Amino acid sequence: MLDDQNRPEAAQTLPAGSLQAAQWLRGWLARNADNSKAARLLELLAQRALAAAERGDQPALIDVGTLAREYSLEVEQANEHDPGKWVRSARMAEWWDSRESGRAADARHAGITAQVTLSRRTGGGKGNQTVWGFRFEPLARALPAADDAELRHDGAIHYTAEPARLALPLRWLSPPGGFPLLSRRGLALFLMVLSNVILDLGIVWLALVVMLSPGADSSAGIAIGGFMLAVAWSCWRFGTRPWLRLPSDRLVILPMGQLAFTQDFAQLHLVRRRQGATPSGWLSVVRHWAPCPVCGSDVDLQDGGTAFPDRIVGRCAAAPHEHVFSFDPVLLRGSALLPLPRGT
Ligand SMILES: [Zn+2]
Repeated sequence: MLDDQNRPEAAQTLPAGSLQAAQWLRGWLARNADNSKAARLLELLAQRALAAAERGDQPALIDVGTLAREYSLEVEQANEHDPGKWVRSARMAEWWDSRESGRAADARHAGITAQVTLSRRTGGGKGNQTVWGFRFEPLARALPAADDAELRHDGAIHYTAEPARLALPLRWLSPPGGFPLLSRRGLALFLMVLSNVILDLGIVWLALVVMLSPGADSSAGIAIGGFMLAVAWSCWRFGTRPWLRLPSDRLVILPMGQLAFTQDFAQLHLVRRRQGATPSGWLSVVRHWAPCPVCGSDVDLQDGGTAFPDRIVGRCAAAPHEHVFSFDPVLLRGSALLPLPRGT
């Protein structure tokens, strides 16, 4: 839980088990940090927390300017002009808080006896920067009774939708917030899908001509024709079909080849929406994801496969065949589809 430290300074003594907690924190972040800036900044704070715990001190809170400079040195060039804006407080707190249940379960399994909290003190007035840091506290303060410390989850999962980006040639179809189908962009999309269908059919026709032409050497003709049919099939399967399924399915998983390099998962989402008096639709490219309630890793939407045919399910990055959840695109909620281990 984020601890807003806009109150008198907490005790500086280090509770028992803090060093193990600091080492566990480094490991947990190494297993769960994605490439987001928030996660990388938390890793820097965890490094500092470990160094402080090794000295026997509570980690000092550091200002966002110092944090941005350390990020520049270790990860990539940060924008130092306004570190307060560059280090988005809300993003860091959100990243940390959203993984709380999985993190608590992980700490309990590891036998960690000190509680790690993320602290923030917002900078009041000119020149006072917001400061951040991890702090160690006795476990009892956070979890009242040791017997109740066993964190139980019911497998319920809450998804969030964030804008996603398509590969460069398709980037015009993923403006933030989406676009109405009754628009120039919508017309261009219609023409693109139509020309893809014609192209696919053209390749199939050519393949049949090559295979069936009387003059050609039959074995070479069949090999070339077969290759062209395979090309036509993959263009259809991974290029055209997801877009054609959109009107009936409303939510379609996009193949990775159509996504930006930095994007591993994304879906096409079509919502019926009137434009004036005309019924129309609104198309957006989004990534629905959630922190796994069991282990805290990211849960992303994937095809249900043979286990869950005709369904889109949420699969956890750490255990894609065990931590599987349903997905309701309207409520953005789901529940566990497989029995989960108790008391985790
Ligand atoms: Zn999981």
